[in-house]
Amino acid sequence: MTADTGSPRVGVLALQGDVREHLAAVAAAGATPISVRRREELDAVDGLIIPGGESTTMSRLLGVFDLYEPLRARLRDGMPAYGSCAGMIMLASEILDTRPDARHLDALDITVRRNAFGRQVESFETDLEVDGITDGHPMRAVFIRAPWVERAGERVEVLARVTEGPAEGRIVAVRQGDVLATSFHPEVTGDRRVHEYFVGMVAAKIE
Ligand code: GLN
Repeated sequence: MTADTGSPRVGVLALQGDVREHLAAVAAAGATPISVRRREELDAVDGLIIPGGESTTMSRLLGVFDLYEPLRARLRDGMPAYGSCAGMIMLASEILDTRPDARHLDALDITVRRNAFGRQVESFETDLEVDGITDGHPMRAVFIRAPWVERAGERVEVLARVTEGPAEGRIVAVRQGDVLATSFHPEVTGDRRVHEYFVGMVAAKIE
């Protein structure tokens, strides 16, 4: 907790991707946003968001910035984390259709397929019910060269599946303990419910 505001400190991994949108969404959800690019910044946060972007680039930059091992250690210690799109890919335990040298963080027992909605279809939008988050008022979900979850382990809660179109039935939001992931980008729509939910997870952890 920050002494001055009493709100949880929620970091956004700021190596690459749509960092600014997540920082703004964290602030709107009532937490203190912190941009994380250095080890000391990682050490200072109560929870971390891994944004959308390009997972293979993010993987490389985690090495360049010496953050890969420290981040894995914090995740092993139970730091709450939320990954959207490329962030979901980074948190997964297995990735299909990636580069052989791409590293990932192994914090969720899921297999994801990159760019799963099809290479022709750059983006796709649909309304989704997300368990524990939307409560009968679906949210607009924006998918941009997004992954989907092909396998979810026993301890993984499936929070949302696509309900229309060629991707119908595909898993696009999951939670396992203190780790949350969505294939879509709630930071681009102005709907703050996913960020509020994650800030609630972080607040519960540090209480
Ligand atoms: N296709 C990207 C990747 O593989 C993810 C796209 C995104 O985050 N919008 O990392």
